[in-house]
Amino acid sequence: MTTPRSNIYQTNVYRKSSDDIWNCLTCGLCYDGCPQGVDYPEFVKEDREGKQQGDLVHKGVFTLLSDLMADLKESKTNLAESGNNDSKIGYYPGCLDFHDMFFDLDVDFKSIADSSMNLLEKMDMSAKMLQLKCCGHDQLWQGDTETFNKLKEQNTELIIKSGIETLVTSCAECYRTLSMDYDLPCEVVHISQLLKNADLGIDSDISVTCHDACRLGRHMGEYDAPRESLESAGATVTEMAHSKNESWCCGVSTMMNCNDKSKALRKARLDEAKDTKAKVLITSCPKCLAHLNCMKTEQESVENYEFDIKDLTVFLAEQLGGK
Ligand code: SF4
Ligand code: SF4
Repeated sequence: MTTPRSNIYQTNVYRKSSDDIWNCLTCGLCYDGCPQGVDYPEFVKEDREGKQQGDLVHKGVFTLLSDLMADLKESKTNLAESGNNDSKIGYYPGCLDFHDMFFDLDVDFKSIADSSMNLLEKMDMSAKMLQLKCCGHDQLWQGDTETFNKLKEQNTELIIKSGIETLVTSCAECYRTLSMDYDLPCEVVHISQLLKNADLGIDSDISVTCHDACRLGRHMGEYDAPRESLESAGATVTEMAHSKNESWCCGVSTMMNCNDKSKALRKARLDEAKDTKAKVLITSCPKCLAHLNCMKTEQESVENYEFDIKDLTVFLAEQLGGK
């Protein structure tokens, strides 16, 4: 296995790319470690462009579905139409309905969308549920820029047509992609950035710990909003040994890596969460939610993880007395 430095050198000096570009999780943990401030994930993203992708998890079914969406004239989520159609605020659920279809886990992914809509309503920001295609995050990081560009173009058109001024997302990957890789004529916010100042009338008194999704944390620099949202709802946040910019990744970056190394990373993450003695491990990325819950289930016969793993919105909406 070559180092990031050697990969960059071989590519730039000898035009020789290494297969190790497919092993990088693009988690950004090396951002702070590099004395020269090299953005290695960005290098990897560019080097992957147009190349044969490595093995994808679950036989690439998630990627195939968004590939298909890019070619369909119309593609709607099967989430219930809801919200205020005249609103200038749009909520984008991302691929939550796909997650429900394909992950055989005891997690109700669609409840993230319902919870987000309820929380927005509670904050007097009633939103319309946007019917967009997949944001194309995985295609972009897997090197399939052609499909990504198709999805970006189609979604941009739909967003402009919707007339919204603010686009709210609950998914860390969607938030990064729509903010950094699209060029939208509206503001893009992660729901935690609205929740941090909200008075939801909750006094939850529950001890929690936060898993910083790479795309919300290191990629977008947003560490405080989820914590402030939880604290203003009365929860006590206890940090894991690695948190915020030092947080460990869930290991399955862009649905490409679910191998022994990424399993070890997930197991270590759950051990860190257990050490905090928190009742709930909170994340803001549906994929982290899936992969961490998957490891928790896998470990059931050998390791006792007594905490729940929940999305931020679901945790808060449950305290309101309904999802
Ligand atoms: S896996 Fe993370 S820390 Fe390692 S090289 Fe890739 S982005 Fe950097
Ligand atoms: S961690 Fe589980 S849910 Fe995630 S990709 Fe691997 S097998 Fe699938």
